[in-house]
Amino acid sequence: MLLIIGMLNTAACTKGTSAGSTGAATTTADAKSEFPAAPSAPPEAAPDAGLLPHIDAKRAFQYTREVTAFGARYMGSENHKKLERYILDHLKGDQVEDDAFTADTVEGKFPVRNIIAKYPGTKDGIIVILGHYDTNYPLRDTGYVGANDGGSSTAILLEYANQLRGKKRNGYSVWLVWTDGEEAVRQWSDTDSLYGTRHLAEKWDKDGTLKKIKALMVMDMIGDADLDIQRNTYGTPWLLDLIYSAAERGGYQSHFYAQEAGIEDDHLPFLKLGVPCADVIDLDYGYNNVFHHTPQDTMDKLSPKSLEIVGNTTLETIRLLDRR
Ligand SMILES: [Zn+2]
Repeated sequence: MLLIIGMLNTAACTKGTSAGSTGAATTTADAKSEFPAAPSAPPEAAPDAGLLPHIDAKRAFQYTREVTAFGARYMGSENHKKLERYILDHLKGDQVEDDAFTADTVEGKFPVRNIIAKYPGTKDGIIVILGHYDTNYPLRDTGYVGANDGGSSTAILLEYANQLRGKKRNGYSVWLVWTDGEEAVRQWSDTDSLYGTRHLAEKWDKDGTLKKIKALMVMDMIGDADLDIQRNTYGTPWLLDLIYSAAERGGYQSHFYAQEAGIEDDHLPFLKLGVPCADVIDLDYGYNNVFHHTPQDTMDKLSPKSLEIVGNTTLETIRLLDRR
């Protein structure tokens, strides 16, 4: 992903009507205004007594370790194929689909494969969770393994699958998408990035799926032991607020939205087509983001606690969405 608007410290409270981006660059305000205003929360008859969902963070961390152990997993590589099999092995018995195609890039043609697992619900509509599983092609010979960038996102989606499978959900259908080709093959640009999601958004636009999506959330770089999720202003304000409410219910709010930034990531192709989107990302990985896209992006920088915070908050967000 790419940071477009620099990070801004926000006031302590980013929740609700924090038009308090007073000092915030006008670009931020512009980015917000492109998208529809937040519908207000429905009135609640009784206080929400729902239990906070819990992921198995130890298991999610173990997945991160196993995924990272494959080594570099760039498009077209042998390790990438191994990881595809690993993901599919963990989805046995689930409803799984492929969105596979060939991307024509400045570095040549690459096979791209988004893997989609569907967990049906009783309500009409879909909640989509995305996380990329490819690693950076330009870094393929540097020893880069992408524990956080690529590893953590792959793993947390596998854990969501564990939480979702079984009986039909009492709520919206949830689709998990392991996205491919998120990374640039040379240098990030509109045409050299987001290969998988640009293809998927176009496909879902054509077949009418986009209209059914109630919310779409991206998980990216969520394993950093020093977890500080930015409020990515390239997102839908009401969904960002809902995620913050979910974080508050778990007592995790100190890890969310102390800073805001405009970050390009896998949600963009959908956001541009009007889907309510949020990018859950910590693009402050090591002091000044020094570990990002370097061989230092390794397991020792990560913590199961961070996966737990993001995992529980995301599942709680899904629960809150089901109630809307
Ligand atoms: Zn990356």
